[in-house]
Amino acid sequence: MATEDGSVPAFVRVKNSIRVIAANPENLERGLAYVVQVILEDFGRVVKREILAIQDYPKRGVYDVTFGGEGVYRSFMGILQVFSNDPRLDGFKILPHFAEEERFLVIKSYSPFVPLKEIEAVLGRYCKKLAFVGKILNELGIWTLKYRFKAVFEKDTYPPARFRLGTVNIDCFFNGMPVFCKRCRQYGHAMEGCTLCQNCGKDGHDGKSCPIAKKCNFCLQGGHLYGGCPQRKVEKAAGDPVMPSTSVDLVSPLSDGEVSIEKDSKGQLVVKRIKTVKGKKKPEVSPVFVESSETVVVESRSRGEKLYKFYKGKNTAEIKDAVEGWSDSDEYEAMDKIISGTQENKDIRKAVLSYIRGLM
Ligand SMILES: [Zn+2]
Ligand SMILES: [Zn+2]
Ligand SMILES: [Zn+2]
Repeated sequence: MATEDGSVPAFVRVKNSIRVIAANPENLERGLAYVVQVILEDFGRVVKREILAIQDYPKRGVYDVTFGGEGVYRSFMGILQVFSNDPRLDGFKILPHFAEEERFLVIKSYSPFVPLKEIEAVLGRYCKKLAFVGKILNELGIWTLKYRFKAVFEKDTYPPARFRLGTVNIDCFFNGMPVFCKRCRQYGHAMEGCTLCQNCGKDGHDGKSCPIAKKCNFCLQGGHLYGGCPQRKVEKAAGDPVMPSTSVDLVSPLSDGEVSIEKDSKGQLVVKRIKTVKGKKKPEVSPVFVESSETVVVESRSRGEKLYKFYKGKNTAEIKDAVEGWSDSDEYEAMDKIISGTQENKDIRKAVLSYIRGLM
């Protein structure tokens, strides 16, 4: 409650809540109606019944809003992150009340074909908790190559604001991010004027003349590069080749299909996938990095044969889905052409399968 002198209680952690502050004296006069009708309803696409409560301190221009559920809260925060420059927010500051030091991460991959699992594995090294929220879609519903995650970072650690997997750059944005150098990939200074080595991060030489051999940018070991990484091969053989197709719709809140990576007591990363099946939560737990001496037996079939075997039981919709997560851009383009140039569903299926059979 507002006190006599108009002071505002300290910023406390309240779940599913945000604090809207009119930072600009002109906006003080806009008041509660503006916050609800313009910021929450119009900008944030929240309907009134999704607002659980608002405590307002009008003399200070402070409005503490609690949403009716995590889905609404996340949807609002998602919109805020993408459209933070919206003119309707001019003169207002919006702060989340986070439980723990939880942060929203936005990850931008410069290629759609980098497996999400590998991005999760890299981020997981810097996080105590990491949960995949979904793909970020543009206003036409098309994926923007960005993913959203929720994370709790390890103490005094930030994930790099830019890293590479193979030759693809991946950028990472989060609230409270310190200044970062995109050249040498270290925090603490900007790229302009940086002379540190892009390979080892030391001063006195550049990446080309670095005496230290390049390491694999996925597992960070020497002796091989990303393309020949044994960790990736094990994961590929064990996992399915299809990327998760969970997506964040900016309008409706997302609820299920969450993936989280946590470290267990031995410091090993554990992935949990929570699927909501008719209201029931079913966690499947599987270790990501397993130290094992098992040999993975790979049948010697051609790529085409293997793919044909994988697809022959699938229907057209499943094939379409799988093609979206395709790992080879030439093949993806060829299949995409088939799909967009063919009208009938059964013809798409036939054409895709015959293309797959023709692969070497
Ligand atoms: Zn630098
Ligand atoms: Zn160097
Ligand atoms: Zn490696």
